[in-house]
Amino acid sequence: MKKYLVFGIALFALILTSHPSSTYAYSYGDNPKWGSPNFTGNYKDLSFDYRTNFAVAISNWNATSTPLNFTQMADEYSEVAKIRANGSNLGNVEYNAIVYHYHASNYDRVTANYSYMKNYTADKNNGIMGHELGHVFGLDHVKTKTSIMCTSEDGRTATKPSADDIAGVNYLY
Ligand SMILES: [Zn+2]
Repeated sequence: MKKYLVFGIALFALILTSHPSSTYAYSYGDNPKWGSPNFTGNYKDLSFDYRTNFAVAISNWNATSTPLNFTQMADEYSEVAKIRANGSNLGNVEYNAIVYHYHASNYDRVTANYSYMKNYTADKNNGIMGHELGHVFGLDHVKTKTSIMCTSEDGRTATKPSADDIAGVNYLY
């Protein structure tokens, strides 16, 4: 009888520790999730050079099988946009873009660093914007290069969300 109990405990421990197909990370701290998957977007302060990247990144997330739903604000200067993008030449700050969370004011700010992005391909910049949007939704970094939530530093090859990123969003929403 005791033998079975030990086996049972070992199996339970295995179930607890194995997570074979998902590596997505999510957080309620640094990258808090929103209460709803409906997002409005606005990029009035983003250079025209990178607006297409932002639009493509939104379109790529929109095409995934998730509850995510985006609306581009008709009025670019609308203040009700939940995702606001801007950017500038920030210099050698070691990030391509960054997200600031202002949930108390009902929006997140995506800030692009043109100093790096101006040297990249459109595909890479689409990936950067897609990565930052993942942070807006509440996702954190992973080490898998084929995931949009891998950092550039860790060698991200994804330019749009992959299965693991999608699983992460479906977990959160
Ligand atoms: Zn990141």
